[in-house]
This record gives sequence, structure tokens and C-alpha cells, in this order.
Amino acid sequence: MIVTVAVIIILLVVLISYSCSHANAQKSKSPSVSAAVNTPPQADSRAGGKTDASSADSSEAELPDLAEAIARFSQETGAVPDNPDRQAFVEDFWRWIFGNAGIPDSLARKVAASALEGPAFVMDLLVALQEDPYTYCLVDKQNPLPLDYEPDDLVSLTGGGSYRITRDDLKLRKIAAQALEEMAAAAAADGIVLTAGSAYRSAAYQAQVYDREVKSYGKETADRESAQPGKSQHQLGLVVDFSPIDDAFAKTKASAWLLSNASRFGWSLSFPEGMENVTGYKWESWHYRYVGRDLAAFINTYFEGTQQYALQFIKAWQELKL
Ligand SMILES: [Zn+2]
Repeated sequence: MIVTVAVIIILLVVLISYSCSHANAQKSKSPSVSAAVNTPPQADSRAGGKTDASSADSSEAELPDLAEAIARFSQETGAVPDNPDRQAFVEDFWRWIFGNAGIPDSLARKVAASALEGPAFVMDLLVALQEDPYTYCLVDKQNPLPLDYEPDDLVSLTGGGSYRITRDDLKLRKIAAQALEEMAAAAAADGIVLTAGSAYRSAAYQAQVYDREVKSYGKETADRESAQPGKSQHQLGLVVDFSPIDDAFAKTKASAWLLSNASRFGWSLSFPEGMENVTGYKWESWHYRYVGRDLAAFINTYFEGTQQYALQFIKAWQELKL
């Protein structure tokens, strides 16, 4: 047990992590993104009014301040680090992290148990965090992107390969376009044709979409189905809405195929059925986000396939860098 705890602590300390830049980011100390990532400096300057431009240029990754995190945990919960029952302490520490992440207690207990079983959980997490930071960036009603965030490696979808498109102005980031092609080729081999109906949307375009929804259905309904500008995953350039973009999609063979296979290619269903109170949006059977193969596996293995919980956890984890 002591060995396991030691391994977890070491892994925590050697963690090199990056985070995406949020419009509501609070901490100027942590680098928002790695140097390679395409966050415009002005986007960072909106983050709490501080710019991360200098840290983004630095190749030095910051380490999580575990001592401070444990101190905060002890202060908030009354748990004592030198408690003779170390397993209970570490388990409580994990559950505290999951609690901070808004993970329901029943799931938090399960994930904490996985984390305590051995180093696999942390190892899998570290592997997932090696990907482009925007693949694990939480973007939702509480965590908007800067309105002027625009990926700089968008490519046009031609639909000339294994999938079809419903309009010729669709764009995705390069990594997502490639992953879509790979997934569509596998689907085609199974006799399934995937059709992309919507992909990247700028904040300005999202504003038009949202305003149209409000005009048609009223604000309350619009907010269940459509994101306000800055709060849409589509702005990441990592999301595809498969066609038809309505509930009829759930009954298609393409939908059934995606539910079984998408994660193998790094895609994850963002707004599953019955999760509106968690994701903030009604079930969208057609909306898949590219998160990378490792994170997709991580979501399935530890978070029961719920992308939202995994991304909330990653955000809370990164905030350990106090
Ligand atoms: Zn969508």
C-alpha cells in the first residue's frame, strides 16, 4: 500500500500538465497552453486581465504544488496528512478532488478506488494530457472560450474521402479532420456512410445560430439546445455534428455505429441522453467531439463514458497548481 501511495505521489509531483485558456481563467501563474498551441495572446489577456504570453513562450512546465494542495485539503476537511491510516487519507484526498470537480459521490468513490488500485489511473491521465490541450479543454456554459479564440490550423472538409458533407464550407482542425477520415474509413468498411452536417463555428457565427434559436423558440428553449457565443464546443474546431442534425439521427445505423466505435478513433459523444442536468444541454445524438484516443479511453474506463465529468475532473486536477 505504501508503495502504491508513493508511486501516486511521485506521479503527481512529476506531472507535466498544460491547460487550455479560458475566458474565465483565474490563475496567471499557470501556463495556459504549451508553446505550440495556437491561443492568440489577446485571448490570454482577457483571462482575468492578465497575459500569459511570456509563460506560453517558456518551455518550462510548472509542477503541481502538491504540498499546498494537501494543505488546502487538510484545512477544508480536517484530515491530517500524518494520519496513521494513510490509505484512508489518500482516498479522502482523491474524493476531495473529485468532489471539487463536481463528480457525484457514487462515481467519485469508484474513480477514487481505481486511483488507489495502482498507478494506472494517473498514468492514463498523464498520457491523455500529452495531447493538444484543447482536446481536453472544458468548454461549457460555465467555462467559455475567449470570443476571439480561433484555431489557426483549420482545414476545409472536402467530403471526397470516406464521408459525405451536407455543405461545402465545413472546417475542422487538422487533427480532427484526420481522425474523422480514419473513423469514416472504418465505418465505410462496415457499410456505414457518415455525413458531416456542421463542424467549426466561430463565436460570431455561433451568435447568429443562437439568436435564430431564441427568435424561433424563446430563450429558455434556445439555452437547452444551442450555446451562447464562446460557450460552444464547435468553436474548438474539434466537433462534428453528423447529419441529420436532429433526434432522427439516433435511429440511424450511423448513430449505432458511432456509439460502439467512435471512441476507438478518439471521438466522444458530448451530450448523452439523460444528462442534461450535467452537461447543460439536451441529448444530442449527433454531436461528437474529438478528444484523442487516449482521453476517449480514459473517459470510458474511469468516467462511465461521460466526457463532461472527465473534463471537469481534468480542470480541477489542473487547478491543483495553486
Ligand atoms: Zn453540435
